[in-house]
Amino acid sequence: MKTVKFGTRMALALSVVGILGTTATAFASDVNIYSYRQEFLLRPILEKFTAETGVKVNVVYAKKGMLQRLEKEGANTPADVVVTADIARLKALSDANLLGAVESKTLNSNVPAQYRDSANRWFGLTLRSRIIAYSKDRVKPGEIKRYEDLADPKWRGRICVRSGSHIYNRALVASMIAAHGEAKAEEWAKGLVANFARKPQGNDRAQAKAVFQGVCDVAIMNTYYFAKMALNKKKPEQQKWAAALTLLYPNQEDRGAHINISGAAVVKHAKHRAEAIQLVEFMSDNTAQEIYASVNYEFPVKKGVARSELVHSWGEFKADAIGLSEISRLSPTAQRVVDRAGWK
Ligand code: FE
Repeated sequence: MKTVKFGTRMALALSVVGILGTTATAFASDVNIYSYRQEFLLRPILEKFTAETGVKVNVVYAKKGMLQRLEKEGANTPADVVVTADIARLKALSDANLLGAVESKTLNSNVPAQYRDSANRWFGLTLRSRIIAYSKDRVKPGEIKRYEDLADPKWRGRICVRSGSHIYNRALVASMIAAHGEAKAEEWAKGLVANFARKPQGNDRAQAKAVFQGVCDVAIMNTYYFAKMALNKKKPEQQKWAAALTLLYPNQEDRGAHINISGAAVVKHAKHRAEAIQLVEFMSDNTAQEIYASVNYEFPVKKGVARSELVHSWGEFKADAIGLSEISRLSPTAQRVVDRAGWK
């Protein structure tokens, strides 16, 4: 038994020395990410970051459980930066006091105030609009102009959209609440649900496919999905789905089209805080912004960075000026509206 104990202690001692030994050199040159964004998109950005700065990046890719994991790890978390594909999850991490505020001139200048937390706990990195896409054959241009129009009984049995509880739709409903108040937003959501061609199912692309197949005439989706279908070489059938649709930026004569964001934040207990800030700054700057635009067809958050050719070809549009902090603040109310409207 003694030997075992001794052996165990030795192993522990060795591993501690080993870890300390590595960290001594790694401290200045490592940063750890927990990411809800996919590897195909992040990898080219992180490779450029490492090439430019010498800082090595380790990533844990996940689809869920980030908040629980960070809470469980507490002050011992290895995570320095979190990256998400939406505002709701950043807000949840922020509400759970898991994020650290960052004062950065670069971030303040690259990320417009509308797209970052007022207390600097999270930063939008890319923008997309939640647009309306309608059948080229069965809907005439001008028949729909606003999200509000989708509640008109004229569209009975003709609309496809994913579940209202999905973060993208919840944010859209939050924008309706901001524009019209909770009661009117609920009336709208009920009208929309009454117009569904089928029970909500699938992701954004599945709605485009349904329009292509004639299941419905109108869908709601994020802009980058439209581009990813139109340019899909691996699954060319998706090009047909996109080709069946006309893309509409809604509400151009009033508040503008709804915008959602992907973003990043520095973890409160980050061990490599300087590198973490450096990385988020890098993600907000030209090189990374160009990659987001060309690889995933999102709108760069930084002014002056070009959109991808296809996204650019859709023309300029007016975006809803509401702050994303306000959207996330209204998110729980939006979920209740979605529930009461039976949007599921
Ligand atoms: Fe998405």
